[in-house]
Amino acid sequence: MSQIETLEASHKLKEVGIIFDEIFLEHKPFYSHPENPSRLTAIVQTLKFGKLWDKFSHLELGEPAIHETKELLRKIHSHEHIEMVEGLAGHYGNIDSDTYYSPDTSSVALRAAYASWKAVETVISGKLKKIFVLARPPGHHATISEAMGFCIYNNAAVAAEKAKEMGAERILIVDFDIHHGNGTQEIFYSRDDVLYFSTHRYPFYPGTGKFDEIGEGKGKGFNINIPLPSGLSDGEYKKIYEEIFSEISRKFDPHIVIVSAGFDAHYKDPLGDMNLTEEGFAMITDIILRSAPRARGFVFILEGGYSIDGLSSSVREVLLTMADIKNPDVTTSSTHTVDKILLDSQKYFSMWLSN
Ligand SMILES: [Zn+2]
Repeated sequence: MSQIETLEASHKLKEVGIIFDEIFLEHKPFYSHPENPSRLTAIVQTLKFGKLWDKFSHLELGEPAIHETKELLRKIHSHEHIEMVEGLAGHYGNIDSDTYYSPDTSSVALRAAYASWKAVETVISGKLKKIFVLARPPGHHATISEAMGFCIYNNAAVAAEKAKEMGAERILIVDFDIHHGNGTQEIFYSRDDVLYFSTHRYPFYPGTGKFDEIGEGKGKGFNINIPLPSGLSDGEYKKIYEEIFSEISRKFDPHIVIVSAGFDAHYKDPLGDMNLTEEGFAMITDIILRSAPRARGFVFILEGGYSIDGLSSSVREVLLTMADIKNPDVTTSSTHTVDKILLDSQKYFSMWLSN
């Protein structure tokens, strides 16, 4: 009997929720583009092939609560941005050189935002503790007033606003996509109720994400960027997540954790040039889950990841880690590069990392 076929494993897998709907396949490029529906179909197929898909709890998306979703979108995006997105309905085109739209994009993006806040509602109401939202288009580059970097609405920010609305006082967003989540940073830059923590390649698209972008006003110290050179391994990421992320998360003591889960730091990714394996993503997940002991729960929201194989196998390992079936096996690696990152972090984030 394989590990996932025991009765105990079945119970553990049922405690993890998935939100997926075929509507998320209807945002379609009209030319060859890395952010396309096959990313999601590959994840679903991989989970079905491994006889895992049916073992998770599936949350039906159903008809979206349009009014409520728009209310949340208005808290993070400008009126003009929302109107622009709605105006795309029925057409193909490009918002910028990276970001395409197709006839259903505006309604798909609305549903991705809806799925993200539904996951938060489910977690805060205590029905499930861990949920993975398998939706697209992704969101973390969407700023207050602009769609960019394949992103239309900022799904993680919508999720955070819902958590706030439901009474969460401290919301942690952790973003391990290889790109900096400039949109999420901008939206919460002057707030201390939402802590944004990002590891990303730098310098790299979209150009933001330096150490010294620490937030402003009362948000000072609540925006944490860890810029990384390319080529880092699982072991180096482990040291960063254990010695920086974990410390900050424990001190911040979030009521809920929202994860911008991008998989473009996978070694097979055509855009990324990092060296993480699926084991590395499982290890990061494990550290995230262990670093917020009092959190009501964890909502993972899909961002990037453009190697179909790297993406789907990594999502599978992350889900098994969320179910507490998998214990990631990564040895911490202490290189000169990582030691320098730790030293810089202690300088910029002394309010979190000083003893
Ligand atoms: Zn990315």
